[in-house]
Amino acid sequence: MATVGMGVYVHWPYCPSKCAYCDFNAYLLPRREDAFSSYTAALVAEIRQAQRDGELTSPLTTAAFGGGTPTLFPAGDLLRVLAELRGVGLQAGAEVTVEANPGDLSATALRDLAQAGVSRLSIGAQTFSDRLLGAIGRLHTAEDVVQAVQAAKAAGLARLNLDLMYGLPEQTEADVEEALNRSIALDVGHISAYALELEPATVFGRRARQGKLALPSEAAVVAMGDRIEARLTEAGYRRYEFSNYARPGQESQHNQAVWQRGRYRGFGAGAHSFLGERRFWNLASPELYARRLAEGQSVVAGEEDVSELAMGEWVYLSLRTLVIDRERFRQDFGRAWSDVFPAATAWALDEGWLLEAGPCLLVPPGRRWLLNQVAAPFLEEGRRRPGTLTPSAETG
Ligand code: SF4
Repeated sequence: MATVGMGVYVHWPYCPSKCAYCDFNAYLLPRREDAFSSYTAALVAEIRQAQRDGELTSPLTTAAFGGGTPTLFPAGDLLRVLAELRGVGLQAGAEVTVEANPGDLSATALRDLAQAGVSRLSIGAQTFSDRLLGAIGRLHTAEDVVQAVQAAKAAGLARLNLDLMYGLPEQTEADVEEALNRSIALDVGHISAYALELEPATVFGRRARQGKLALPSEAAVVAMGDRIEARLTEAGYRRYEFSNYARPGQESQHNQAVWQRGRYRGFGAGAHSFLGERRFWNLASPELYARRLAEGQSVVAGEEDVSELAMGEWVYLSLRTLVIDRERFRQDFGRAWSDVFPAATAWALDEGWLLEAGPCLLVPPGRRWLLNQVAAPFLEEGRRRPGTLTPSAETG
């Protein structure tokens, strides 16, 4: 079992332009010159507030900086926040991941990040087709991705992830194949491959409603996903979550803890936190977020008690990792799996959605596209038997 502790997430909400598919809490770069510094000061204030309120349990085992585009902020701001996290328990040697866009990574900034203990860089490549990059609203080129990977390696950042997307408008299987080949050739340890999800409040969402988006068929998207799994497996990557592939030892510890319902505290505009039974989220507007913190006020916008959903949520997250570890379930909830989910398990085994493998249940290849369908009976059965996490589940 992992050591007791928790992860932290820091959200940087600005981007130079908005991608056509983006539904994240991200805004165009602000005009006000002091916007970055006041946002950074607010992050520091929120970290101190959380520490004062007893929401941080030392050690902090992982940190992830996401956005938006964290690397758009001056490296000094990011390092200031990192130093603050060290002051409230971020372990020496902890996994520290920073998301980055190719094209805005200077060699100096990368060196500063590496020296400050950033151990992992997640680069938003998306595709290696300049035609598609332009169509989805990205400002970088395929060549920028290559240079970003080389610069990161030269700066000593050995743990690298490339984000890829499939199911994009007018994307072909050949485009996907090229993205896979070039990513593998760059010899990164981790590749995330996300299927496009159409969100209503995005440029793509609007175009789809107007019938102006040429999306690949569902069958073509499934074929792309299957091809990604086959090609990456052949190249030595293991699919350890629905959208994530890693070479041995290169898995994201931060994300793995989240998928195991480990606790994390999120800082920044719109950031979500999960502290065992309680989930809460911050105000989305970066300006309002910074103003409230400057006035010493809370920035929590909403919260929910998730204790009744705990078991079903545990199953859902496990399904995403394609493995249900029944022994870990017993450790986390103090209950036998067979007592809690007898009907859903029998149904899933009968229908071939799950396979028995010792203490684990596995999602077999070919059944990985319909996880929501598999999860539904477990969510229902778990809701009828609400459970409480035992302290051993409070791990990072
Ligand atoms: S870079 Fe990421 S966060 Fe920024 S607009 Fe594009 S998808 Fe959204």
